[in-house]
Amino acid sequence: MSKSILSLATPGVQKLQPYLPGKPVEELERELGVTHSIKLASNENPLGPSALAIKAIEQHADAVNFYPDGGGFKLTKRLAQVHHVDEDCITLGNGSNDILELVTRAFLTPQHSAVYSQYSFAVYPIVVQALGAKANVAEAFPQDHATMPLGHDPQAMLSAIDDATRMVFIANPNNPTGTWLQPDELRKLVSAIADDIIVVLDLAYHEYMDEELRIDMADWLQQFPNLLITGTFSKIHALAGLRIGYGLSNPEMADVLNRVRQPFNTNLLAQAAALASLDDEHHVRDSVVVNNDGKAYLFQQLHDMGLKTLPTMGNFIAINFEREAMPVYEALLRRGVIVRPVANYAMPDYLRVTVGSEQQNQRFIEALQQALRETQAA
Ligand SMILES: *Cc1c(COP(=O)(O)O)cnc(C)c1O
Repeated sequence: MSKSILSLATPGVQKLQPYLPGKPVEELERELGVTHSIKLASNENPLGPSALAIKAIEQHADAVNFYPDGGGFKLTKRLAQVHHVDEDCITLGNGSNDILELVTRAFLTPQHSAVYSQYSFAVYPIVVQALGAKANVAEAFPQDHATMPLGHDPQAMLSAIDDATRMVFIANPNNPTGTWLQPDELRKLVSAIADDIIVVLDLAYHEYMDEELRIDMADWLQQFPNLLITGTFSKIHALAGLRIGYGLSNPEMADVLNRVRQPFNTNLLAQAAALASLDDEHHVRDSVVVNNDGKAYLFQQLHDMGLKTLPTMGNFIAINFEREAMPVYEALLRRGVIVRPVANYAMPDYLRVTVGSEQQNQRFIEALQQALRETQAA
């Protein structure tokens, strides 16, 4: 061949770094010779899915020879009820990741730029670059910021907007930092963005936030016609493996997104499980309690060990080791505890740990104490 296949790809795609997934647990155990390892690396819900969701999956298993309902009629209707919006405000996605892709594909070209903060979700650069659009990365708050170290700086985000900007991404709370904007700060930021710029507000962890920090989505959608809110069933609803999420927006934007999506982008089992999960308020409430208790325990233990942490409203904590964190990550691995290195986010001194069950959290802390001793002695 005269040219490499990669050189034939679009310029945006050529520059993409492939997403590095964590290794499957079984593979890692085999490599390291450990058993009964625990995975606190992907912000998955340690309670597992709702019993209602599992039942729904079982009930629909023998119907997977049929295509799913392409419009997701029942789930759309239920989501509209839950969020107090009209059904035509909803776009279903194969995970909220799918919605992020749909919105960029519908609105960004190589002539456009998109704004997001430093240390923000890894998917934003991927979807922006894939289209050859320019990324204007806003500087985050500095590490010694009094309240929100490494958090989104609204002023810097507004300054990063230029004439070519067609989209702004805001993750609240943000992953991997866990940091957030107060509702009034967030409203001020969104209000200050011109209404011909699409604002993507990623609320993957909204249900985990303290109640007074959550926003009234219907109210915000009324006020901001350029707003797209993304939600997911991967986190508190514990259905990450099924891939289902959604966008909430005004009907015009939803119409655009629905034109771009694959006709059957959400699968039959995912639709059924998501629908059932929305009915299980106990599961959501229990998940919040387990997360808050776990966070309190972990913060206490980590601070007792003299470690610094970022504040978080998610189901994960970013720990600052104030030195290269990779050796600690590897020492944890050898003890069968899998967490997430975030060097790819330009945070080489940090590890991100998902809040697990009580038992998992204790095991993590014990392994971390050993890992710190081992890596400090070295
Ligand atoms: C986990 C996560 C998502 C959810 O992705 P899905 O595709 O819905 O699984 C979205 N945004 C952020 C910031 C996340 O951390």
